[in-house]
Amino acid sequence: ELQFFFPQEHTLALIKPAAAKKHKDDIMQKVKEAGFTISKIKEEALTREMATQFYRDHKGKPFFEHLVTYMTEGPSVVMILTKENAVEEWRQLMGPTDPEVAKATSPESIRAQFAQDILSNAVHGSSNREHALKSIECVFGEIDTD
Ligand code: ADP
Ligand code: MG
Repeated sequence: ELQFFFPQEHTLALIKPAAAKKHKDDIMQKVKEAGFTISKIKEEALTREMATQFYRDHKGKPFFEHLVTYMTEGPSVVMILTKENAVEEWRQLMGPTDPEVAKATSPESIRAQFAQDILSNAVHGSSNREHALKSIECVFGEIDTD
């Protein structure tokens, strides 16, 4: 099995509410083209607890409350993406946080193509493996992702 040579990694990926409404099919297409396995998927609004867990490093920043409110006000597409080096590769496919930077530096990225602005920037992805495991547990419970 290839998996023996190329160990799989999991990341938590979200299509944020506005993009989930408008661009779900296009974004899912890019996910599949990039070779990710969608190990789990569901559509639901995040709870405040989940949003606070995802964004705990930003607590106290001026945009924190807006962010949590935005992320809980409508359904997101919530996925576990699986691939070799999934955490880093999903962040590459998302592109930079600010869509203006994304358009300038990574025009093929999801944020360059589908973000509205720096808050409503189409997608979320865990920033490292530890965050990924914690977020996956927070959203999907204690599942066996291997
Ligand atoms: P990323 O999502 O690329 O990891 P950050 O971790 O820096 O970006 O920020 C988390 C989320 O907070 C961003 O995706 C975006 O929705 C929001 N955000 C970041 N910076 C700002 C800002 N200056 N104003 C409004 N929202 C922001
Ligand atoms: Mg981040």
